[in-house]
Amino acid sequence: MRRTRAAWLIATAGAALALAGCARKPVELVESREAMDTLVTVRAIAPDSKTARAAIDAAWKEMDFAAKRLDRYTEDSDVSRVNRDAGGGFLTTVDPAVTSCLAAAKEAYDLTGGAFDPTVGPVLELWHKATERGTPPTEVEIQAALGLVGMDKVEIHAFGVDKAPLPGAPGTATREGAVYLVGLYKKGMMLDLGGVEKGYIAGRMARRMQQHGATAALVAAGGDVYALGERPANLVPPGGDPRWAVGVQDPRYPDDREKLYTALRLRDQEVSTSGHYERGYTVGGTRYSHIVNPRTGQPVNRHLASITIVGPDPAVADALATGVAVLGVEKGLALVETLPGVECLLLVIPDSDFGQTDPAKVTLVPYRSSGFAALEFDPNMPAGKKD
Ligand code: ADP
Ligand code: MG
Repeated sequence: MRRTRAAWLIATAGAALALAGCARKPVELVESREAMDTLVTVRAIAPDSKTARAAIDAAWKEMDFAAKRLDRYTEDSDVSRVNRDAGGGFLTTVDPAVTSCLAAAKEAYDLTGGAFDPTVGPVLELWHKATERGTPPTEVEIQAALGLVGMDKVEIHAFGVDKAPLPGAPGTATREGAVYLVGLYKKGMMLDLGGVEKGYIAGRMARRMQQHGATAALVAAGGDVYALGERPANLVPPGGDPRWAVGVQDPRYPDDREKLYTALRLRDQEVSTSGHYERGYTVGGTRYSHIVNPRTGQPVNRHLASITIVGPDPAVADALATGVAVLGVEKGLALVETLPGVECLLLVIPDSDFGQTDPAKVTLVPYRSSGFAALEFDPNMPAGKKD
């Protein structure tokens, strides 16, 4: 009798626990920080708030780790060491973050025929100096800088190191570890990963959150956003789309992040927007883009006001957005059509509207790749807002 009662108690306790387990719904935690020269926001979906907290902490740690190694403005970063060692005739040991980010950069370099080139640093420096001097770089200066540009003059190595057996000793070589090396052939060459690092880091942060138990995540580093997985039913309004909703900013309103041109539904995809409206060089009162053509050394035409790329690889998508800014509308669209899973939206300001000071009167001419519209929804629809 006693035993039966105990068994019953245990059974009820078990059922209560199971019920509690069912009732526990996934939670979402959001946090923002100023970092990488922009506002970075991370969202973690996890089974409970403790896990979500751990995932977000891991994401910030990952961001700090990677940014410290890739940023050329940080004096003791790996990229700064590579730049200082340029032309020294030896290779510099780097963290694998550098070689893997460079591998994505190389992919974009190859795809864009060199329009995206992370060795464009010396040209960027020239334009930076020009803003202080008030006159554009001379042709002689540009040619000298262009002589130091080219990803074909970069060596990238990532390989395992085998520990050789002692002479005469039996046994085979054993794997000891891995070595990552980068070298620039000429003195004065300079890596600048500004066009690829935010997408690359966003992807790493999302993966790190997943490792720490997040079931879905969104990392937004300014115009570079990676959407991992999708939102659970309890966090989506009834009948809503479980994919993440990400807005594409209207380039006519650079200071208003809330003003959207369109919005997208994404799952396991990056969306990167490059524009000339946020950053750039002002030389003697004239505004220039912060993206330069690695062939001519000139900043790209600002009429292509914004370039949005969606793709499966966050680093490559970010780099492609920068590369397509150089390629222009026709070549950019043609390239994107050849890449599986990659889509784009290009927004052009016609010549006639370029001097227009009232943004509401500026026309934007959109060019979409064939699969882009399928990702879009109207951000002004009430259902979209609720998402
Ligand atoms: P952001 O989101 O910071 O505006 P983008 O992804 O639009 O960055 O890339 C612009 C940055 O890329 C520039 O600030 C510069 O560091 C770098 N860059 C400029 N021109 C090129 C180029 N042709 N190829 C690769 N990187 C470039
Ligand atoms: Mg980019």
